[in-house]
Amino acid sequence: MTSILELHKQIKSKERSAVEIAQEYLERIETLEPRLKSFLYITTDLALASAKQVDEKIARGEEINLLEGIPIAVKDNMSTKGIPTTCASRILENFVPSYESTVTQKLREQGAIILGKTNLDEFAMGSSTENSGYQVTANPWDITRVPGGSSGGSASAVASGQAVVSLGSDTGGSIRQPASFCGVVGLKPTYGLVSRFGLVAYASSLDQIGPFGYTVEDTAILLEAIAGYDKKDSTSIKVDIPNYRESFTTDLKGIKVGIIKETFGEGLDQVVAESVNQSIKELEKLGAEVKEISCPRFRYGLPIYYIIAPSEASANLARYDAVKYGIRDEADNLLEMYTNTRAKGFGAEVKRRIMLGTYALSAGYYDAYYLKAQKVRTLIKEDFDNAFKDVDVLITPTAPTTAFKAGEKTDDPLSMYLSDLMTIPVNLAGLPGMSLPCGFDSNNLPIGMQLIGNVLKEDVLFKLGYAYQQATDWHTKRPNLS
Ligand code: GLN
Repeated sequence: MTSILELHKQIKSKERSAVEIAQEYLERIETLEPRLKSFLYITTDLALASAKQVDEKIARGEEINLLEGIPIAVKDNMSTKGIPTTCASRILENFVPSYESTVTQKLREQGAIILGKTNLDEFAMGSSTENSGYQVTANPWDITRVPGGSSGGSASAVASGQAVVSLGSDTGGSIRQPASFCGVVGLKPTYGLVSRFGLVAYASSLDQIGPFGYTVEDTAILLEAIAGYDKKDSTSIKVDIPNYRESFTTDLKGIKVGIIKETFGEGLDQVVAESVNQSIKELEKLGAEVKEISCPRFRYGLPIYYIIAPSEASANLARYDAVKYGIRDEADNLLEMYTNTRAKGFGAEVKRRIMLGTYALSAGYYDAYYLKAQKVRTLIKEDFDNAFKDVDVLITPTAPTTAFKAGEKTDDPLSMYLSDLMTIPVNLAGLPGMSLPCGFDSNNLPIGMQLIGNVLKEDVLFKLGYAYQQATDWHTKRPNLS
């Protein structure tokens, strides 16, 4: 595995050409895909053509920026003009968008090499990537296990070296939980920091795009490249994007870290708790001041998320009506056309969410469920606000367990939902959260810890994460895929 900065140096000094590098990654994809199934679509021609342009620039003696020539994978719920975008749903089979998402537009403008579109749970609904309408992605550390979800393809692609970095989206944990399961870094930015224009909507008040990488440094570079105000997204924040790498240090003196004590209770695997506690000691050694913090209403996050997210999803997914996008089932009348198409095109989990959401929003139930959930959402935000009066960053395990076996939870949606217990409150409050590799269990499966920052405090997460990675070597471990 080579970092962005190393590759950048190699390309700039002509030690290796961008085309050579792209070819290397495309070959690795070809070798590993039969086992991993990280990708839904591979953009070989585009990748080689963009790499050639980078080499031509180098030959002309022009400067290149950091992402130029760097192989990247993109979750298949971000719209790519001229390239199939399915959200892993059959309802969008063969759909080729006529417009580009802001994030991929930025990647293209900066000369990044897009290798392809990665697999996900259909419309990003799930925690294992098993809800894809096309294929199940494997965890590179143990191919009988899931990579987490919903951005399982993007996490697996980075963990296996099929891509240097990748983009995922996170509505309730879909970047951080797969990052944890696959032993890579994954960051969900502050709500509004990265444009959602062209991100196919699941739950619009929670969705956010973010980076995956092996190192904190790589994820910081990728976030800098995609963040920033966008007038095409009305929730986009007008703020200058800092150079996050300037905040890197190995001395954490003066940083106050809060351990959310409620997240160390029931349901947490012992080995996960031990690894995270060990990492906290490591942060203390680096100078951080550690104390326990209580977020008493954190635990209501999961139940209210499963009111709010499906409610928004039921509205967002109304657009798949067999007229505007995707497949169409011919029928004798309009209503049948709608219902037959949706019955065929959507998978079971998506239908479950649409029904839950429609129910929660219906007259008579709206006040009891949706409105109540929104009020609790405000209380959860209040818990975080209180915590950040005392500390700069909060720590929890990312997920209660390490990667589970494929098929283990598919018949039990509730136990699947529990995977996101600790990540969901962060989305509800719109805060940034990062998962960092912090150990392994006895099956050699990666463990992740979550760092949570206050609004727009990504720099603090990067600072802590960087210092931690300088002092430990969990992130240098690679799965054996030979
Ligand atoms: N697993 C959660 C869900 O199914 C979160 C998904 C996500 O973050 N996109 O909704």
